Amino acid sequence: MSIIEFRKTSKAFGEVTVLDKVDLNIDSGEVVVLIGPSGSGKSTLLRCINGLEQITGGDLVVDGISVKSGNANLRQIRQEAGMVFQQFNLFPQMTALQNVAFGPRKVRGLGRAEAEAQALDLLDKVGLKERAGHVPSELSGGQQQRVAIARALAVRPKVMLFDEPTSALDPELKQEVLNVMRQLALEGMTMVVVTHEMGFAKQVGTRLIFMEHGKISVDGEPRQMIDNPPSDRLKDFLQHV
Ligand code: ADP
Ligand code: MG
Repeated sequence: MSIIEFRKTSKAFGEVTVLDKVDLNIDSGEVVVLIGPSGSGKSTLLRCINGLEQITGGDLVVDGISVKSGNANLRQIRQEAGMVFQQFNLFPQMTALQNVAFGPRKVRGLGRAEAEAQALDLLDKVGLKERAGHVPSELSGGQQQRVAIARALAVRPKVMLFDEPTSALDPELKQEVLNVMRQLALEGMTMVVVTHEMGFAKQVGTRLIFMEHGKISVDGEPRQMIDNPPSDRLKDFLQHV
């Protein structure tokens, strides 16, 4: 049973086609790693899933809800799919706890005490309970990104979308974020992850997708694709990541 269904989905910005009739089904529990050259449409594909971008052709169905049908469902779609960005995007004036409690208070209308109790559990899950009272500027990049993951989880999404979550981090901080992502995957979370971390793709990914020019050019088992690239362009790409 697919939780995300791209059906000849296109996205154009003006004259420029960025997603070109993409067909893709993602099942519950899959960990899809998305790779491809800069500008190939990876971020746009993620952003269409949670309604940050509107598709311009075909259809896209997320947990039974078409994103095409307009703004009425947008709030619901955003709740289905949590997003984690390269640049963390935390609220700078709020503590870690307030960042994580914000969504449930706003979106799910939880009271402060309940939202904060849940937020503390989530911060504990990402190893940051002790940092709950700190604002983002007092946290390392890796800690900020873990808060961002906890914040995305707080609205209980069915799918988690990660757009180069470790690209802004120093090597020694990447691992703590990847560990949290690995744990989520083990718990069965459905994930779509844009990343250059091929170790993560091999260990955790159930599927690797190589995008080029707004199309899926290769789709397969990560270990096989990385160790034995079925196309020269993928091989070339992998030699440069
Ligand atoms: P990737 O994440 O693979 O690097 P993107 O999805 O960010 O690729 O971008 C794909 C293409 O779409 C690029 O050519 C980019 O310039 C273009 N694009 C992305 N967002 C916009 C936008 N808001 N307006 C116009 N063009 C955009
Ligand atoms: Mg991108």
